[in-house]
Amino acid sequence: MNRSLSWLVLAALALAAPGAEAQTYRRTLVPGRPFCVLWNIRDFVYRLDAAGSLRTPGDTEFSALEASFSSWQALAGTCSDFTLTRGPDIQNPQVGYLRDSKDNQNVITFREADCNDVVPPEDPCIEADTCANEYACWDHGGATIGLTTTTFSFRTGYILDADIELNAAPNGRGFLFTTVDSPTCDAVLSSSCVATDLQNTATHEIGHVLGLDHVDVIGATMEPTAPPGETHKRIIDVGSAAGFCDAYPRGLPPIQCGESPDLGRRTQAVSQGPGLAPMGCGAAPGTLLPAAALLGLRLLRRRRERAGEGRAAAPRAPPA
Ligand SMILES: [Zn+2]
Repeated sequence: MNRSLSWLVLAALALAAPGAEAQTYRRTLVPGRPFCVLWNIRDFVYRLDAAGSLRTPGDTEFSALEASFSSWQALAGTCSDFTLTRGPDIQNPQVGYLRDSKDNQNVITFREADCNDVVPPEDPCIEADTCANEYACWDHGGATIGLTTTTFSFRTGYILDADIELNAAPNGRGFLFTTVDSPTCDAVLSSSCVATDLQNTATHEIGHVLGLDHVDVIGATMEPTAPPGETHKRIIDVGSAAGFCDAYPRGLPPIQCGESPDLGRRTQAVSQGPGLAPMGCGAAPGTLLPAAALLGLRLLRRRRERAGEGRAAAPRAPPA
């Protein structure tokens, strides 16, 4: 029996400076089970959507994504025999996992239209929850930057498939992904300043692909917020690094979390000063910054396979 987890990184706004040197991680638990999701392979292959993004200059989006994977690969080289290898780029990548299909690939794709804008209201894909793949559109809410869908064995926790979608819908529906290092964009977003840094976002999402969960640590790669202009998640923090290395030690089988969910997390010298942003969805009161700090984490179960048990399509709220 397989289930999917989908993680949301919600739009954010910056409250705090990075820099907490905390060694904290959380691994993603199988819902209701005392163990974690993890890969039982060491040769992970990912494939980039050949279409890339029309909103980033040239092929810079591919370079930024490669830089994100390279950071995790460099980490792996210090502690693990895990490899992250780019397979051939893929046309019309399909997010999710099809049972008994040979076409399941671990893909990264830009969704450059919002499903609300391109899917006719009576389209059966809404009920079937297949619009995102059919229309290559973003179907997860306008405040979300990126989403990783992981399908795994409910019995073992072993991951079968993990796919990253990036919300690049235009006209305020999504985010302008940028690939430059500086400066931070001011009121006018453009590709020549840092709006939503692609490498920053992808490094975080790849953490989910590898089985890491969010942590409430400012500055951590797996912190679930990403304010405009942020780039520090590009650098994998010591806690996230420990989470990866503890899960996939070189020369040894992958390490499960064990009988206690607490074994899936480790906290050392956590710095949680008063500047820590409150967790949860909603506006941050009192901020002078231009938008509310939102962050979130959502578990989605796969639509059930048998007829008559399909999950209702998610409500289509107008954009905030
Ligand atoms: Zn996340």
